[in-house]
Amino acid sequence: MSELAYPYEAPASQALFDRAAAVTPGGVNSPVRAFGAVGGTPRFMVSGSGPYLTDADGREYVDLVCSWGPMILGHAHPEVIAAVQEAVARGTSFGTPAEGEVALAEAMVERVAPLEEVRLVSSGTEATMSAIRLARGFTRRTKVIKFAGCYHGHVDSLLAAAGSGVATFALPDTPGVTGAQASDTIVLPYNDLEAVHAAFAAHPGEIACVITEASPGNMGVVPPLPGFNQGLKDACAANGALFVSDEVMTGFRTSRAGWYGVEGVVPDLMTFGKVMGGGFPAAAFGGRADVMAHLAPAGPVYQAGTLSGNPVATAAGLAQLRLLDDAAYEKVDAVSAQIQSLVTEALGKEGVAHTLQTASNMFSVFFTDRPVRNYEDAKAQESFRFTAFFHSLLSDGVYLPPSSFESWFVSAAHDERAVQRIADALPAAARAAAEATA
Ligand code: PLP
Repeated sequence: MSELAYPYEAPASQALFDRAAAVTPGGVNSPVRAFGAVGGTPRFMVSGSGPYLTDADGREYVDLVCSWGPMILGHAHPEVIAAVQEAVARGTSFGTPAEGEVALAEAMVERVAPLEEVRLVSSGTEATMSAIRLARGFTRRTKVIKFAGCYHGHVDSLLAAAGSGVATFALPDTPGVTGAQASDTIVLPYNDLEAVHAAFAAHPGEIACVITEASPGNMGVVPPLPGFNQGLKDACAANGALFVSDEVMTGFRTSRAGWYGVEGVVPDLMTFGKVMGGGFPAAAFGGRADVMAHLAPAGPVYQAGTLSGNPVATAAGLAQLRLLDDAAYEKVDAVSAQIQSLVTEALGKEGVAHTLQTASNMFSVFFTDRPVRNYEDAKAQESFRFTAFFHSLLSDGVYLPPSSFESWFVSAAHDERAVQRIADALPAAARAAAEATA
């Protein structure tokens, strides 16, 4: 669909987008915000409250993106805001150690058993980049296995997503990533343990680690098949490699202890972001103490950050984690289940072929009637139906991720009124999906 299909639906957002495009590439600071996959004017938001976002045109939306995961308590939760205000009044950055970062690390370690030590950073990208460097430094090996369709941030060597089959060296997917960076990355199909065993057999003593999303949400929600993560862990252990579980998206969202809390597979290293920052730039990596001991200043693997453990970000993250008790997760899980059944009911009524997949309270809809087990399956869906579905919901005040390859996120603040608004908007969206043509 061309941008001209939606010329005047959001004039204030469009004016801001035009201004932005003059000073920022593509008008956005992170590509998926540009509505590239669905067309139309990206909404510029001015405020958020509970389950709602309000855009520059004054329209309110029920938010099913939740800032791509972090806002699990909803927007502007009063206790998180109070913690931030209290922290910010004491200063915004010290460049020294401070108690808040200790408290946040302690809260994380207390919740996630395999996390013996953590290092705080500012983004999920930094977390995975640093975990990979540490895995290489610890094992003194160079190669990394990742899975097609898994996203670990824009780390050069992890952007390689193309390529299939055992021992295929991925080519750079993006200009700017060199062949050398990509050639140390082995990209395999997700949920395929045979491919992993074959890669280890083809590269004896060369593979530093396997990195995987704990339960992928970046090709839509594609949970690991039973035994897949344990199989990765076992293959790593048998071959002297580290198992790195990326919980940037799932961490402190899919349960109190993230996906680890759901499945119980013990990684060597883990990465976190999103929920643990309470909407601020805070992220982390951590795991086995003997591995983390290789990190500077304790060990030789260098890693640092001017704003790492920032006092305002750690205050927000800590406040959010403290509020995330069992009752909060029960609420998020229940509202997620409610929305899931509304979606399948609406699409079912219109006879739209779809598969709804879940990972605890994360879920997404694929416009195909086949189960989606990997990136190839995900790409086989009828994405044009999603575009029609998305725009119908948007015009009725429901804000979905603007891509069919993303998880939907809900919060503990999604109450009956918000759910009712989704229920009211779904029949027309399902009809639009049914009527859509490629
Ligand atoms: N890892 C996963 C699983 C993610 O979903 C993301 C971001 O969506 C990242 C890493 C990168 O995090 P950030 O965007 O904070 O750099």
